[in-house]
This record gives sequence, structure tokens and C-alpha cells, in this order.
Amino acid sequence: MKAFRVKEFGKPVVEEILPDPVPTGKQVVVRVHSCGLCHSDVHFQEGYINLGGGGRLPLEAAGAHLPLTMGHEIYGYISDFGPQSGLQEADRNRPVIVYPWIGCGECDACQAGYDNACTRPQNLGLQRPGGYADKVVVRDAKFLIDATGIDATIGGVYACSGLTSYSALRKVPTRQGWVGIIGMGGVGLMGLSIAKGIGFEKVAAIDINNSRLELAQNEFGADLVANSQSPDAATVVLDQTGGLQAIVDFVGSDQTCALAMGLLAPGGTYVNVGLFGGQLRLPLAVLSLKQLTIRGSYVGSLAELHELIEHVRAGNIKPIPVTSRPFSTLNEGLAALQSGLVQGRQVLVV
Ligand SMILES: [Zn+2]
Ligand SMILES: [Zn+2]
Repeated sequence: MKAFRVKEFGKPVVEEILPDPVPTGKQVVVRVHSCGLCHSDVHFQEGYINLGGGGRLPLEAAGAHLPLTMGHEIYGYISDFGPQSGLQEADRNRPVIVYPWIGCGECDACQAGYDNACTRPQNLGLQRPGGYADKVVVRDAKFLIDATGIDATIGGVYACSGLTSYSALRKVPTRQGWVGIIGMGGVGLMGLSIAKGIGFEKVAAIDINNSRLELAQNEFGADLVANSQSPDAATVVLDQTGGLQAIVDFVGSDQTCALAMGLLAPGGTYVNVGLFGGQLRLPLAVLSLKQLTIRGSYVGSLAELHELIEHVRAGNIKPIPVTSRPFSTLNEGLAALQSGLVQGRQVLVV
């Protein structure tokens, strides 16, 4: 099979021919149809995760090593399975979306269904080979979500971009009143689409790019948009909303965090998702006086992905713009992501 692998950090991926995987035990082999390009892959390719303030977490410390097959937004077809997989002949060629945030399977978090909180992760596309390949091995059929009736190009995008925004929105305690979403890139726009699709009453979209804000307002139902580079942005938002009940920050920079702290209403909740590398600076007296909740969100659980796919199947979630490109153009796609010029999501399609 073909696989696109990082052989050296900081260098382009290389196309290689590897032996076809043969599943054993509970394993399932999925034939990849499409795989979304995620901004995390730009960092994985460089070999580290940016922690902000100059701090870097080397990928080796996270349990990943070279050669690395990235790709974690996988839509494909069941191609082969081990004798203990629980699958039958009729399952062959069934379309699936792969849950990639797989944990060790043994710790308390994994046992409770929160593989995404495991401290010994076996994530596809990081610690285990991912979807930038013809085939991917999945440890257990329980990580495959039936994709019947789901668009084959965008389907995989729900496993990272979609799940990340869905899980962050699930951490917002109320769907009434005003909620803010900062960052209208691929994940933030998906967040807006999901928020409006699952019944959030009023959503304010905040970004530094007017064309993204126009898309948010005209196509995705943002009730208010604000360009945070405009000096009166905070005043405008506060005047029109009276303060936000919650803010989901898909950027995570010093600036977006500071802006959020100023926009939250008393009792408000700040959920940070973005890995831009910012740091939180807040007088603790403000935390008390305003009774704020500050929390983080990272990808999401298997159960949340099932819920999200049900919403998608029911037609509740408007699809974000997707550009498809052949797998052979993976390096160009990663370069485009790094330049920050991509609107919506890029997806590699066979
Ligand atoms: Zn991702
Ligand atoms: Zn675990």
C-alpha cells in the first residue's frame, strides 16, 4: 500500500510503498477514501507542539516517532478484519468514520470511555500510523462509526475539526443568551455551524479577517460579528450583548484570551481549544468577583463523535466549505495550511 510519511521532522512528506497490513485479533483494516488536512499536522511535521512562551513539547515526548504517517480525519470502507473483531462478511465495504483519539484501553479514563484523556495515547496519525495512506489499522471495531448517509468527502472532518468544536460547545453550560466563538478558521467555522445546528440561541463570531466574518454572518447564521482588530470591537460586542455567557476560543493566543476575559458576563465560562501558544494572565480577584469558570477542551470522546454524526445525519449541521485535492498533493496542502490562507477545510480524496 501507499503511505505518505514524515521521514525527517521539518521536511516534506515522502510517498512510500509498504506491505499491506494483515489484521489480527480484534483489528480492522480500513481502506481510506478521504482524509482531512488538519493544522495540527503542520506542527506534527515540524516535530513539536507549541506550548507558548517559547515552550515546545517534542513529538517524541508525546510517544510519536519517525517515520510518521499523519492523518486523523479518516473516512473509508471496512476492508479486512481479524477473527475477534466481531465483524461479519456483510460488513466488508461498509463506509465508516474512524475515531482517531484512541487511548491505551486500560486506564480509568479509557475504561470510562474518555480515550481522549488517556495519558498513554495511541492516536491514529501520531503515535500510530494514520490516514495519509491507502489503508489504516484500527485496534477495535468500536472506534468505527457507521457513515451510511454521510458525505464521503467531508465525513472524516467530523472526527477532528467537528468533534473538537462539538465537545467544546458541550462544555458550555447554557444554550440560552449570547455565546461567543473566537476564530473563524476551519474549526471555529465548524463550531459556529454546530452551535446554530444544535440550538444555541445567539452566537457572536469574532475574527481578524473580514471575509471570514462575512461568511460566518451570511452563510452560517452568526447573530453578531466583530473584527477584533478594530479598536472598538469589545465595546460593540458588550453594547449589543450585555456580556457573553460563554466564549469558546479556537485561537488561544494572549490577545484572544485577554479579549475573552473582558467580554464574559459575570458567571461566564471560558473554554479554550486553540493551541496558538498564548498564556492566560488574569488578576485572581477578577476570577472571584466575576465568578468565572476557565476550562480547556481537547478533541472529544467516542460517545460525543457518535452524537455529532447523528446530528449530521439528521441534517442539523450545515457543511463547512471543503476543497478536495489528490493525496499526491499532500505537501502543497500542508504548505497552504501553514500560510494561513485556507478557508474551510482541505480534504485529500482518492
Ligand atoms: Zn486535527
Ligand atoms: Zn488509557
